[in-house]
Amino acid sequence: TKREGFSAIPNVKWDDVGALDSVRNSMEFFISRRIKHPQEYEQLGMDTDRGFLLYGPPGCGKTLVAKAIANDAQANFIYIKGPELLNKYVGESEHAVRSLFARARSCAPCIIFFDEMDALAPRRGTDGNAVAERVLNQLLSEMDGVDKQKGVFLIGATNRPDTVDPAVLRPGRLGKLLYISLPDSEGRHSILKALTKRKPISTDVDLASIAANKLCEGFSGADLAALVTEASMAALQEKCAASASEAEPEKSGPLLIHNHHFHFALH
Ligand code: ATP
Repeated sequence: TKREGFSAIPNVKWDDVGALDSVRNSMEFFISRRIKHPQEYEQLGMDTDRGFLLYGPPGCGKTLVAKAIANDAQANFIYIKGPELLNKYVGESEHAVRSLFARARSCAPCIIFFDEMDALAPRRGTDGNAVAERVLNQLLSEMDGVDKQKGVFLIGATNRPDTVDPAVLRPGRLGKLLYISLPDSEGRHSILKALTKRKPISTDVDLASIAANKLCEGFSGADLAALVTEASMAALQEKCAASASEAEPEKSGPLLIHNHHFHFALH
């Protein structure tokens, strides 16, 4: 669930995440390993690199990866939706930014996740929105304080990195950019495996060939999740229909998702 501003350790595990292995490696190196072995990073004087910007097309796992890294590091996770921080507390946005960072410090190790970073920190200049500019300045000054606060990490997410104010992306702020791409066929296979691992999947299901199917080209992780939901629904409907009609008793076996349910969902 995405309850705004609430901090807890998320229950997303790495095996819930498909593809994205290199993103996982970087995040483990810069966040969870660092929380577990801070002395090594201190010896090497690696004080910055506490902030990341995950960017790429929608629905490919930015939020999921951020939660998985928090779980891996056993860190608290605060979910902030960019536009809400700006709009919900009209006139109080700067205060909201300050108290957000104070709360993160008090529950360290903690990851603050800013979804829709482009809305929270839009490129300054053209429209001259004074409120947005004050909030951005407050945000930048809090971000600069973060490397003195052991155990607070920042992850921003956006589909439009070019519209984020460049000041946010300096080293020491959200200085590391990680691209979360649309999956290729192999990535789709890995995501389908993650999405179905706790479901009753028949042995006739060939996830690799579903992933390689032309109709799946361009699918995001979110599209694949919708496909799995539709296949599950098809399996359930078929079972309901079979148990209603005695003519097809052979179909009233255990509830299983078969290969043809995926193909039905794809067409
Ligand atoms: P947005 O930019 O729209 O916020 P996002 O990149 O943050 O998207 P998520 O919210 O992480 O995307 O993904 C949406 C859903 O799609 C997830 O809850 C999950 O069901 C599925 N999904 C996306 N990517 C993956 C992945 N790599 N592995 C497993 N499931 C995924």
